Amino acid sequence: MSTNGVSLVKATKLSILNVARQAGMLTRVRDSRWRAERLLILAYHGVSLADEHEADPELYMSPALLRKRLEALRAGGYQVLPLGAAIQRMYDGTLPSRAVALTFDDGTHDFAAVAVPLLREFGMPATVYLTTYYSERGGPIFDTMSSYLIWCARGKTIGGEGITSHGRPLVLTTPAAIDQAAEDVYAYARECDWSSEEKDRALEEIARRGGVDYQSILARRLFHIMTPEEVAALPRDLVDVQLHTHRHRVPVDRDLFRREIDDNRRSLGRMGVGEDKPHFCYPSGVTNPAFIAWLKEAAVTSATTCRVGIASPQDDPLLLPRLVDTTELTPLEFEGWLTGVSAFLPRRRGTSTPALRKY
Ligand SMILES: [Zn+2]
Repeated sequence: MSTNGVSLVKATKLSILNVARQAGMLTRVRDSRWRAERLLILAYHGVSLADEHEADPELYMSPALLRKRLEALRAGGYQVLPLGAAIQRMYDGTLPSRAVALTFDDGTHDFAAVAVPLLREFGMPATVYLTTYYSERGGPIFDTMSSYLIWCARGKTIGGEGITSHGRPLVLTTPAAIDQAAEDVYAYARECDWSSEEKDRALEEIARRGGVDYQSILARRLFHIMTPEEVAALPRDLVDVQLHTHRHRVPVDRDLFRREIDDNRRSLGRMGVGEDKPHFCYPSGVTNPAFIAWLKEAAVTSATTCRVGIASPQDDPLLLPRLVDTTELTPLEFEGWLTGVSAFLPRRRGTSTPALRKY
């Protein structure tokens, strides 16, 4: 869909929501039996330590905006439940009214540094779906760090040799060119099947060519997964750590898929947060009909997607919809989802946004 098409849908939705609010529809739906049977599972990725949300407003939001979201939950009388209990109660038909569950994908350092203190302040529990390979390995996540470094070099032209297949200079003067350059680097890394060390060297090289102070970015641990020590220190009364595969991938091969789950569980066990993990989130929202049986074999009882929606007892527990909350969602759109009204409005198709592919 064209940008104009997207903005037209958005403008239409906003005007419908405005009319609905003025007519008292939002509160009526919020307090309806229909909404009381349902669970809104909110999905977050990163919360900025610096300006990550300006580079990638789909994956990152500012701490100030996350605070506004939690304020909206509190002001609207929403009941934020631990994910496992919420899902159980949804299928048992015993959910409290206005039920919401909070989930954070990947488990970046900013979750521990920024999100957890906010969750503590508001007394709201959350589940973090942790991808464990990068936690144990340490170091930055290549895909998001490379995009960020290229964004930091915006306005400049940097050499493309050795970091793209075409090798031409990367002219980083427009948002489209910056996105394309990030895609080119990402594609080249996959094509060359770079090792972790080669990826780290490429990141240093991109930063050097772009004149970006990489050492301070590394020191602040932008785009790093929590260390095992940080995971172990998460407050147990507030944060539940669950499955997101070990290497953030879902191979369409039964044994390799199972290995991702088993490695993820074993790693969580080593971190001291237990191996008995029944809740899963599909990395990058990628689903496949074959995964359902494999998840059941692995004793996974719930799995969340990036399909936009509010969960109901009619949903397959291994294909639960969520609302991926982003910087671009207006307060009224967010309220529309909290109340449930937005479930009746037109929305974008697809299981994943382009930005989520890389995370
Ligand atoms: Zn993820």
